[in-house]
Amino acid sequence: MNVQDEVRWERLKPAEFIARRDACPIVYLPMGLCEPHGHVAPFGLDTIKAEWLCLEAARRFGGVVAPTQSWHIHECGYHAPWLREVMDGINPLLAALPAHLVLETLLYQLRAFRNGGFKAAVVISGHNGAQDDLRMVARHFSAAFPFEHFVASDPELVKGLFHGDHAGRYEISQLLVVSGDLIALERSGRVATDALGRFAQNPDAAEATVEEGRAILDASLEHIGQVVKAFHLAAEPADFVPMAALVPVWQAIDADRAHWCTADPLPLATPSL
Ligand SMILES: [Zn+2]
Repeated sequence: MNVQDEVRWERLKPAEFIARRDACPIVYLPMGLCEPHGHVAPFGLDTIKAEWLCLEAARRFGGVVAPTQSWHIHECGYHAPWLREVMDGINPLLAALPAHLVLETLLYQLRAFRNGGFKAAVVISGHNGAQDDLRMVARHFSAAFPFEHFVASDPELVKGLFHGDHAGRYEISQLLVVSGDLIALERSGRVATDALGRFAQNPDAAEATVEEGRAILDASLEHIGQVVKAFHLAAEPADFVPMAALVPVWQAIDADRAHWCTADPLPLATPSL
């Protein structure tokens, strides 16, 4: 990759950062975590796929990719019963955070984006299940400090075209394209013999193909492209938001914890993906 193609905030120097931002004031935030993805795939599948989508979107449509948020919400909300179901008592070797930490972090990440001169953020979560709360945080932030945003989990990008899953044909196909060297499809049969059991692997994992992965990723990027095109990207400069200004915003979000979708476990928390 040559210097002009660099889109990652942490790898840009000020001149190139400002040039990219001023040409297209959109920032992308990839979100994922380490969680079990069967015997065939690495723990960070969600992170890797979200990062790839954001990098590719910034290269195609313009903008800058913010540092990846590679810790995410798990063990609460719908994820709690899901974990019991797919792990069968086995240690999931999970790198997760409680909801309030991730949600408050996102609030301050949005502040950093607005203060950094961006007019809109695209937040792509490779981890499904917490996005309603992520959207709720973005709504609270934008109500206090106007800022365009789009927040989605990757299966939402291809709704109606593909059905999202966990460590199954859908997800594994994507990683076959993004980083095929990280996939070991020949290990799919270990669910029957390995002491780790299923390790959250979906029964159709071995059906993953590069062709399907490409189709899913293309459709996802097309969706992001439509979102980017629809942003208004206000020309007027925004006031600097001090950290202290977010304290009441967070307090309002926190006061409504009972309604978070990641609240501890919801009565209707049935995993669909
Ligand atoms: Zn996943």
